[in-house]
Amino acid sequence: QSDLLVAQDLTRHYQVSRGFMKGQATVKALNGVSFTLQPRKTLAVVGESGCGKSTLARQLTMIEPATSGVLSIEGVNVAQANHATVKAMRAKVQMVFQNPYASLNPRKTIAATLDEPLYINTSLSSAERKEKIDAIVQKVGLRPEHVRRYPHMFSGGQRQRIAIARAMILNPRIVVADEPVSALDVSIQAQILNLFMDLQEEFGAGYVFISHNLSVVEHVADDLMVMYLGAAVEYGSKNTIYARPLHPYTQALMSATPAIREEDRRLKIKITGELPSPLNPPSGCAFHKRCPHAVERCQQEVPLLRPIDDRLVACHRIEEIAA
Ligand code: SF4
Ligand code: MG
Repeated sequence: QSDLLVAQDLTRHYQVSRGFMKGQATVKALNGVSFTLQPRKTLAVVGESGCGKSTLARQLTMIEPATSGVLSIEGVNVAQANHATVKAMRAKVQMVFQNPYASLNPRKTIAATLDEPLYINTSLSSAERKEKIDAIVQKVGLRPEHVRRYPHMFSGGQRQRIAIARAMILNPRIVVADEPVSALDVSIQAQILNLFMDLQEEFGAGYVFISHNLSVVEHVADDLMVMYLGAAVEYGSKNTIYARPLHPYTQALMSATPAIREEDRRLKIKITGELPSPLNPPSGCAFHKRCPHAVERCQQEVPLLRPIDDRLVACHRIEEIAA
C-alpha cells in the first residue's frame, strides 16, 4: 500500500526574543522528524507538552511552513508549499481539536457550522450540501433535529461529535486529532474513540493522533512515535513498543500510565526533574538530565534513531538496556 503521508527530516525552528536587549534565540520545536502513514492507519504521537506535538500538527495542517525537510501528502511536498498548493491541498487534511467548547462558533447553528467547509471548498448546491450534512450528522450519532441547535445546547461529548462531523464532511485523506478526548469525561472518551475508529473504517482516512496519554492511544494506534524535545526517541508498531518499550523515556511514560499492564509498571522508571526548556535544550541526548542510564557520552553526543528489535530507538546505550 502506498504512503499517504511521508515526513522526512521535517524541521521547524523559530526565532524568539530572549527578552529585552538579550537578542534572539532559536527554538528547535521540530528537529528532523521522519515517519510515514498509510490510509486507514493511525499514527499516535506521544510526549509531554513542549515535545513538538503541536508544532507537528501545524505542519500537517499546513498552517505554517517547515524550516526544512519534506512533508509529502499523496505525493505532493507541502513542507514549503506556495499559497496555491496549500489552497489545493488543505481540504485533504482536517483537524479535530482538544477543546470542543472553544472550537465551535457559539453563534452558529450546527447546520451552519457544517455547511461552511462545504460552501468554501465544494461547488455543491445547497440541496446537495444539506444532504451531506444530514448524512454526516447521522454517522456521528446525532439526531437530524440537532442541526438547528447551537453549541451551548450540547454536552462536551456531543460537541466533539459535531467537531468530528465538521472534520469528516469534506472526506479528508488525513485527520489530525490533537488530544481529542482529554477534555471529556472518562466515561465518554471510549465512545468518542470508537466513533473515530468507525469513521476510519468507513472513509479510510489516515489518522495522526496526538496525545500525552499512552492509555488513550493504546486502543486506536497502529504505529507509535514517542517524542521528546522536538525529536522522535522511539518509533515503531504500537504492539511492538507496548509489548516491550525500550527507550528509557518510553519506559518512564509507560510506568507513569496507570491503565497500562502491571508488568510494564514494574519497570519502575520514574521521570525525575522538569522537561527542559526547548529554548535552552541540554547538550547530547536531550533526555540525559532525567535518564537513570545516562553516562558521560550522553551529555556530549546526540543519539541517532536506529533500528533495534523491530523498531527505531535513539539511545547510545540501547543494546545494553535491551539485553
Ligand atoms: Fe539515557 Fe543516554 Fe540513552 Fe539518552 S542516550 S536515553 S541519556 S542512556
Ligand atoms: Mg485503524
